[in-house]
Formats: sequence, C-alpha cells, structure tokens
Amino acid sequence: MQVIHANQVLTPSGWQSCVEVKIDANGRIAHVGPVSQSPTHQVALLLPAPQNLHSHAFQRAMAGLTEAKGPDPRDSFWSWRRLMYKFLDQLTPEDVEAIAALVFMEMLEAGYGAVAEFHYLHHDVGGEPYENLAEMSERIVAAAAHAGIGLTLLPVHYQFGGCDRRALNGGQRRFGNDPDRFLRLHADAAAAVARGPADAVIGVAPHSLRAVDPLGLRTVVEQTASGPIHMHLAEQVAEVDEVLAHLGARPTEWLLDNHAVDGRWCLIHCTQMTDDETVALARTGAVAGLCPITESSLGDGIFNGTTYLGAKGTVGFGSDSNIHIALFEELKTLEYSQRLRDRSRAALATQNRSTGRVLLDAAATGGARAGGRDSGRIEVGALADLMALDDDNEWLCNRRGDAVLDSLIFGGGGQSCIRDVWSAGRHVVARGRHFRRDAIVDRYKQTMTRLETDF
Ligand code: ZN
Repeated sequence: MQVIHANQVLTPSGWQSCVEVKIDANGRIAHVGPVSQSPTHQVALLLPAPQNLHSHAFQRAMAGLTEAKGPDPRDSFWSWRRLMYKFLDQLTPEDVEAIAALVFMEMLEAGYGAVAEFHYLHHDVGGEPYENLAEMSERIVAAAAHAGIGLTLLPVHYQFGGCDRRALNGGQRRFGNDPDRFLRLHADAAAAVARGPADAVIGVAPHSLRAVDPLGLRTVVEQTASGPIHMHLAEQVAEVDEVLAHLGARPTEWLLDNHAVDGRWCLIHCTQMTDDETVALARTGAVAGLCPITESSLGDGIFNGTTYLGAKGTVGFGSDSNIHIALFEELKTLEYSQRLRDRSRAALATQNRSTGRVLLDAAATGGARAGGRDSGRIEVGALADLMALDDDNEWLCNRRGDAVLDSLIFGGGGQSCIRDVWSAGRHVVARGRHFRRDAIVDRYKQTMTRLETDF
C-alpha cells in the first residue's frame, strides 16, 4: 500500500486540504480522507494525471525534421505527410519499440498517466505483413509496459488512399488491410493487450473517412463490440471537400447521419466544423480529441472550443505528432487560440471555474472517457493515475486552489513543477525523472544514429 499525504488535492468535489490518498496493490485508489498514518510520499499538490488521447508514437523521431521550406512554395500538411511516409519507410519493429518507449517516458514526465496509441504502422516495408500479423502492435504493448504507462491500444484500419478508393501506394502500404485481415490483426493485438498489465485497454480506430469506405467503417464498428472507437475527423479543408464530393456531406454531418455516435467515440481534430456540426457533435457525448500543438504545427486551423464547451461537449487532449510532449502547453494553446480568434480573455473559463481548472478537468475527464480507462479523478475505486507537484518554487509558491492550475498552465513553470507521476499506481516518475530514463534514452539514441533523417 502506498500512502500519499498532500497539502492540496483536486477531487471531483473540489479542492481539499491535508488529505491522505492510499493506493492498493491493484493500482487503484483505496482511500481519500483525513491523514491517519505515516506516509510513503509527502507532496504539496496532487492532481489527476490525464490520459493522452491521441498519439502516433513513431512520429516522435521526426520532430524538427519538417520545419524547413520544401520545393513546394505552398508548404502544407500534405508536404509534411510526404516526408512522414519517407521517414517511416525505414523503420523496423525494433526501431518502433525504441521510439515508442522514449515518447511514452516523455509523456509520463509531462504529467500524462496513460496514452491512447492510434497505431497504424502494421506491416513491413513495401506492405508485406510480418510473419506475426500483430508484430508492430506487440512492440507498442512492450514499449508501454517498459515505460510503465497505461495503454489504450487502437489498431488502425486503413484501406484506401482517398475517398475515391484508390489503392495505397508508397509508405501507405505499410498501413493497409482489407477488413478481414484487419479483424484478424485486431484480434491478435487484443490478445497481446490481454497478456499485458491489467489496466491496458483495446479499442479500434477506423483511420478516417478518406482511408476507410462506409462499408469498411460499418464492419469494423460492428465487429469490435466494446472499447473506444477513434477516428480522425474534419482535420483539413481539403479533406472536408473530398468527403463532401464523394459522400455528399461534410465529414461530421455524414458521420452523425450514418452512425449512432455516443460516448464510445472519440473524434480527433474536429477543426473544420460548422457551428451546427459543433453543437450536434457536442450533444452526442463523444469526445472531441484536440491536439492543439500539432494542429498549430501543421497549420490545421482553430477548433471551436467556446461553442463546443458552451454546448456541454466533452474534449480531451492528445499529442498526435509528438513534436513536443507538453501537457500544459496543449491546454494553453487551445485557450490562446480562442483568445486570438475572438480577441477575448479567459475564453473557456466559467463562473465557477477558472480557465486552468476548466482545461485540466476537461483533460482528465475527456481523456479517461476516450481511453475507456477508469481514471481521471482522485476518488476511491479509480485507477491511481496521479501527478504530484512541488510548490517550493517561484511559480506555485503561495498559490491555492484553481490559481495553482492557472499558474501552472499560463505562468511558465509548467512541467518543471512535476515531481512524481503514478500510472495505475506504478510510481514511474520521481523528482521529475522517469525511473528508466537513462536506458530508454540510450536505446533511442542508438536507433536514431542508424536512421536516415536527411530528406
Ligand atoms: Zn493523428
């Protein structure tokens, strides 16, 4: 039993002072109440560690490789995507495991307790399946277990190169399956997850309305009866136009007309929605999976957060391209995008909760729902996904309640204030460092020295 004493704790009923939180051997919170015994950990501040709801782990190794102007004068998302295909065309399963371990470690150090890995790199270079169809999925499971992060594995179904059902080519061939082979891959990946830590979850991810046709989407949704369903939706204007031309409706409109979208669904990006679509999606209970740093990096556009949250929609946050793993900056970037668009302040705050509080609550609640994970709250019975912060520094000293979160997110201290992180009770970060940092970084550096990065 681990016993944490905290000066301030954020619980579902609000801030509490001088609290004892106990974690049982199954990684769940066994007690939240007054201090009664000597602690194993004494901390200043204790918060739920949210789930990162959208990651493509291997893209971490491309961070910083796509910021120069290419030959195309209008450098766009699509030129980034071309480079991504070139990069991934050299990755072996060992490489993917090493990169994933690094990025999962970075997520834990950033205050995330778990990750939903939107995993689409399934096959060997050229598109031949590995002898073990779920080879790459097993590497993700292994990397997550090594890093100690809670995992929601989302094997991705990817069938076509566009809405016109053109065949996959080049780097895309490593992603592709017909629905039958995908379902076999999914079953094998589910078995690998079941052999892993008890808190791991299997879900499914039809990639997008570009890469999966209506029949493929229906098949995948019907055949995987439980667990979260994630899909990229309305990320880029060109994608919206393509879906409109082929399916006769905008992506969000089409999805809501054709599927019973509910809390099992997490729609990633949702950047290009009309106001009507924004309100309609908010009412379904689905999570809008926001990735503000990546959306900024790729120039996607601005999610309509004020309307979506105003309609009681649920959002969560993901690191997507993993160009920068920084939970608090994801939250800040969303808020600042709304302020810049509307020339406003405290855009997402409510009468009762400050901006930082709204953002952290959203990240914890939405992340847990999107991950199908029983976490996101410091309450008896929930998985102990927790982060502890120091307040003996220039950013958080003498801050109480919601001002802690506002200072953390907007004040500059951010991640440097994190002292400990637990994922389902696994104490993986202490004094701000991951317990396997040196070994994981060494292995990653060895991998990177072998890979071509000059395109
Ligand atoms: Zn993505």
